[in-house]
Amino acid sequence: MTANNEHLSLLDLPPLGADRFAAVEDKLAVLMRTRSDVVTMQGEALLPLEACIRSVARPGSTALNVVTGPYGETFGGWLRACGAEVVTVSAPFTGAVTPRQVAEALREHPEIGLVSLVHAEAATGNTNPVAEIGALVREHGALLMLDAVASVGAEPLLTDEWGVDLCVVGGQKALAGPAGVSAVSVSARAWERIAANERAPRRSYLSLLDWKERWIDAGRTALPHAPAQLEMLALEQAVDRVADEGLEASVRRHRAASAALRAGVRELPGLAPYVLRDEDAAPAATTVRAEGAVAADEVVAAALAADAAVPLQGAAGPLAKEMLRVNHYGRAADRAVVLACLAALAAGLGALGVMREQDGADAAERAVAVAGAAWDGTAGR
Ligand SMILES: *Cc1c(COP(=O)(O)O)cnc(C)c1O
Repeated sequence: MTANNEHLSLLDLPPLGADRFAAVEDKLAVLMRTRSDVVTMQGEALLPLEACIRSVARPGSTALNVVTGPYGETFGGWLRACGAEVVTVSAPFTGAVTPRQVAEALREHPEIGLVSLVHAEAATGNTNPVAEIGALVREHGALLMLDAVASVGAEPLLTDEWGVDLCVVGGQKALAGPAGVSAVSVSARAWERIAANERAPRRSYLSLLDWKERWIDAGRTALPHAPAQLEMLALEQAVDRVADEGLEASVRRHRAASAALRAGVRELPGLAPYVLRDEDAAPAATTVRAEGAVAADEVVAAALAADAAVPLQGAAGPLAKEMLRVNHYGRAADRAVVLACLAALAAGLGALGVMREQDGADAAERAVAVAGAAWDGTAGR
């Protein structure tokens, strides 16, 4: 009967009212450091990301799309589908885009009216200098859209201070929350641009304007759709938990995980941090390069065979042989989890015959010791 009762506890909740829905949006605004409207959209983060692009881009407009990983590539496709001219600036997955690259593109293309940028890329493990880029975009007069899904809760996200007009967050990464609802902050400038765009979606699930008209401008008293109640409650708990821990403590924990993994991996033969400079490494996830004879996907399989509980993942597609990734976000940004991950990687390398048995044990011990010290040095700061 216990199982039945657990089902009932999820299925027979009192209805989630508009006031509660609005309260979650207000908590998100605090987390995102914004005074702009925050619109919660009832879908995974790709929903508000696509909604932003389709709301702003139109034929005859020009966008600067910064590509530092797969999400940036997706944005380029949406921008072109809207008929926009797309100027692309890319950075190798081993680093970040530089403000100088962005400045040059803006100078060469004064017609750029929108810049789309990913803050941190979980898939490639890099993070971009948003503060500097935001200042350049503001000076140029363009709108700045930021995908902060993989950075919120893991590193500073100063939406208003950085001049981000459209900032998209989701719950499923460093907030260790649900994936089924996500949010976007919309600045007054962005609302003006969207309202002036005849092509902006209306009466559509992709419409930001619908939410503005039916929800925000109506005083947030009546929800336009049935609320995704379970997801909203889970998102509220995730945001509350970060507030209880303290956002700075959460950020420190993720930085410590990154520093520990990068230090530990350097002690393991055949592996190296994929992102070259520490300041370009995303605090939410660390990508690792497999060098020499050993293939990354084989290392992942062997490490997971040694310890199936560690948050290790192979890279998708063409990077599968050279890159693996540790998703140390949310609850996994934890000293014991990170050290277990390094031990599993060492065990995997041993099983693949990369090291002799005693060398493997020594390397594992060194990696764990170095990583532990890096964690303590970073977390204490
Ligand atoms: C995880 C993530 C998203 C959300 O998309 P999923 O692939 O469904 O997880 C969006 N943007 C970035 C940068 C992400 O890391």
